[in-house]
Amino acid sequence: MEVFGATRAELEELAVKLGEPKYRGGQLADWIYKKDADDFDEMTNLPLSFRQKLEKSALLTRSKIVKRSTSRDGTAKFLLELADGQQIESVLLPYEDRVTVCVSTQVGCAAGCQFCATAIGGFIRNLTPGEIIDQVLTLQREAGRRVTNVVYMGMGEPLLNYDAVLASIRLLNSEVGISMRKITVSTVGIVPRIKKLQSEDLQLTLAISLHAPDDDLRRRLIPLAERYPLNELMSACREYAKATSRRVTYEYLLLAGVNDSPVHARKLTELLKGMLANVNLIPYNEVCGKHYRRPKSAAVNAFREVLEQAGIEVTQRLERGHAVSAACGQLRGSVK
Ligand code: SAH
Repeated sequence: MEVFGATRAELEELAVKLGEPKYRGGQLADWIYKKDADDFDEMTNLPLSFRQKLEKSALLTRSKIVKRSTSRDGTAKFLLELADGQQIESVLLPYEDRVTVCVSTQVGCAAGCQFCATAIGGFIRNLTPGEIIDQVLTLQREAGRRVTNVVYMGMGEPLLNYDAVLASIRLLNSEVGISMRKITVSTVGIVPRIKKLQSEDLQLTLAISLHAPDDDLRRRLIPLAERYPLNELMSACREYAKATSRRVTYEYLLLAGVNDSPVHARKLTELLKGMLANVNLIPYNEVCGKHYRRPKSAAVNAFREVLEQAGIEVTQRLERGHAVSAACGQLRGSVK
């Protein structure tokens, strides 16, 4: 059995199956998740006989760091290798008052977003709950500080790997001690899964990759949006905000000459009117082989002003990580 990614209850069950008292499974969980042990040998308060049984019948699998690129502001992007040799990216963003990790949820992605580097290679496979939380613990170890925030904004579409993503969120919350309110799940807008997520009744932050204020443009940028028209998406978000009392974040990627004019900004204010919303403006990180360009800062500021004047709360993704290719799929692309 693979122990990394298992729940405390599953580990207790394993202990009993191996002829140990149930609480030994809890100690095992503490070693794996709280003390970040790599190996059964390190688990010195477990009886030697139990450790030997674990060596024989269980696995503790962690990723390997293949590459790390750090920018001057401290943002570090990691390329991690999984047990089967597949590679994923994770980003560490240390701030004064918090440490954020951005995790991947799939190897590759099926959404096919036109501007995105991850889309280039298509979908390969889903990550397991263990492979998702491994990213948080591995980067926490590298940071030498507790991770406080986790954003599901790396490679892949979290809501198309729903069960593993949910299991990983529950582990982060109960075992790693990360508050639900400090976990953000970003989606391209899979409407039925947004409804399902709402029914879990968690205090997560939902982020929607909107990127366009109308269906025509949105479908051109995000092929998967064809199946989920904006009116259905926005109504699911309205419901989510109402049911959870949590402000929904709308990510808006700014692509020069495509979706960044004041006319687009005004349409966006119309779309978000009266909603519990926060817009996160993201100036595009250019991807090799894609014809999209990052807008000039004057265009970004003008866009931002239209939103602010309409009373919409706007945050701008910092230029953090720009220098380390910290956009979805870029590091993996550059190594390949
Ligand atoms: N599939 C999910 C999460 C992964 S992408 C989603 O679509 O939300 C996380 C965010 O990064 C998305 O908003 C995505 O559109 C954006 N993104 C992708 N490529 C980018 C790039 N080259 N520059 C800036 N942001 C990018």
